[in-house]
Amino acid sequence: MTGIAFTLDLEDHRPDSSAELRFPAITDSLLDDLESWGTTGTFFVVGEVARDHPDLVARVAARGHEIALHGARHVPLPELTPDGFRAETAEATDRLSQIVQQPVAGFRAPIFSLVPGSAWAPSVLADLGFAWSSSVLPARNPLYGWPEAPGSPFRWSSGMVELPCPVFGAGPVSLPLLGGTYLRASPRLVARWAGRSGAGRPGVWLYAHPYDFDPDEERWVVPEVGRIGSRILWIGRSGMTERVRRLVAGSRVTMSELAASFTDLPLFDPEESAP
Ligand SMILES: [Zn+2]
Repeated sequence: MTGIAFTLDLEDHRPDSSAELRFPAITDSLLDDLESWGTTGTFFVVGEVARDHPDLVARVAARGHEIALHGARHVPLPELTPDGFRAETAEATDRLSQIVQQPVAGFRAPIFSLVPGSAWAPSVLADLGFAWSSSVLPARNPLYGWPEAPGSPFRWSSGMVELPCPVFGAGPVSLPLLGGTYLRASPRLVARWAGRSGAGRPGVWLYAHPYDFDPDEERWVVPEVGRIGSRILWIGRSGMTERVRRLVAGSRVTMSELAASFTDLPLFDPEESAP
């Protein structure tokens, strides 16, 4: 299955609750855009967002998009214990499936934080009934990455399918060009090249967040990425809608459909590939 699937990480990224709440309105406006493009995809919802904005999540599902989980809280997996992760993920999954009246089959780790230090997560997720995950960034990255992981879809020993973040380039310059800051801030020719190259590869998806589409949001320094990194978080927001439209107009594939389209996926066992 080729073409590029659309995914959105639905999270409340504000530094604290005193900042203006903008992401629900941005998401509603994006839902209208997606409908006008004939696009449906997969929305990864943080458990806390489902708790605080159940009507928004229901509106997303009512427009025909698949709903998956983006963690109970937006906390990187290495900061959690396996037992704590299991308990909060089970609770968040229950809540989400009650809102959308459907089972939740997919999971994306916050900040692609499924790394060697959280390699316990795939078996917990499989135990909880998840069929697939898109939690691994198979490249070196300033935040989280797992360069030894396969660059195309694979299966964990628990049986769960992984749809890793598509990366472009080779070796030390492998970049996730079809997502977030990379998609917003890279030169237009680079974005076009990634789009053309991604459209011909099976299992390729792009990702964005509501804030990527919000040029008018007040600026602040995001502690995780520092002052310069934070500037980059605001670059290109006004052009994001058009970039995404070019890449996914007419795409109607969900991540569950992508995951089910693969047979005979290679097994990735982190124990065996450990250096
Ligand atoms: Zn996120």
